[in-house]
Amino acid sequence: MIEVKNLHRHFGGFRAVDGATLEIETGSITGLVGPNGAGKTTLFNVVAGVLPPTSGQVLMAGEDITGLPPHVLFHKGLLRTFQIAHEFASMSCRENLMMVPGEQTGETLWNTWFGRKRIADEERALRAKADEVLEFLTIEHLADHKAGQVSGGQKKLLELGRTMMVDARIVFLDEVGAGVNRTLLNTIGDAIIRLNKERGYTFCMIEHDMDFIGRLCDPVIVMAEGKVLSKGTIDEIKADERVIEAYLGT
Ligand code: ADP
Repeated sequence: MIEVKNLHRHFGGFRAVDGATLEIETGSITGLVGPNGAGKTTLFNVVAGVLPPTSGQVLMAGEDITGLPPHVLFHKGLLRTFQIAHEFASMSCRENLMMVPGEQTGETLWNTWFGRKRIADEERALRAKADEVLEFLTIEHLADHKAGQVSGGQKKLLELGRTMMVDARIVFLDEVGAGVNRTLLNTIGDAIIRLNKERGYTFCMIEHDMDFIGRLCDPVIVMAEGKVLSKGTIDEIKADERVIEAYLGT
């Protein structure tokens, strides 16, 4: 699904991503781990179009997508989760899902004449889809709650839910498990597995919780100092001397 080739992202003289090469196989839930400062978030941001690379290439299903902006990647089905923005906190959970941009219909004279009906129809369809997503994530009881007032874990579910409002192919998750209690972590894990198995989503996730990674991810890619250090099953990378050394070195 994704090939990253000799990717560099420098900040001044500092090489946050320093020649990373990796592949994310279609249909996988790939974990991305590594000590703090390894370059994981920077790599995510470059692949998701948030930051331009210094050099290197990113391919999606063979197509060169290097440096394409997030909204273009979004329409290709490449999504990165983001925290609920401050300005959306006072909107309900359902409304937060409904804010995700859908297909552009374009503004024609025809649309203007029939605009009102079309908008009402679209809103009804979006609302139905949002309710379906909330149900899938087992948070339908939060539909009318303000997004800013639900728990941290429920917010993470909502972030995941936004990727379900469009036809995602690959979703990049940045620490969806961070600071989330065990029960919700299991709900998030179950939702990721179901999206992978039932809807064919490919995932790449940065995560620190090795148990969570072990339950969900195969393979796991380890980064250190801006490069890929190792790749394998959770047991393989845990037994890899270079990985142990990289973690101990921080
Ligand atoms: P990780 O996600 O693995 O913890 P990051 O990609 O966040 O690593 O950061 C890698 C390194 O790049 C860190 O040392 C960080 O301080 C540095 N870095 C990240 N973003 C910037 C930036 N915008 N400007 C300068 N340095 C940055």
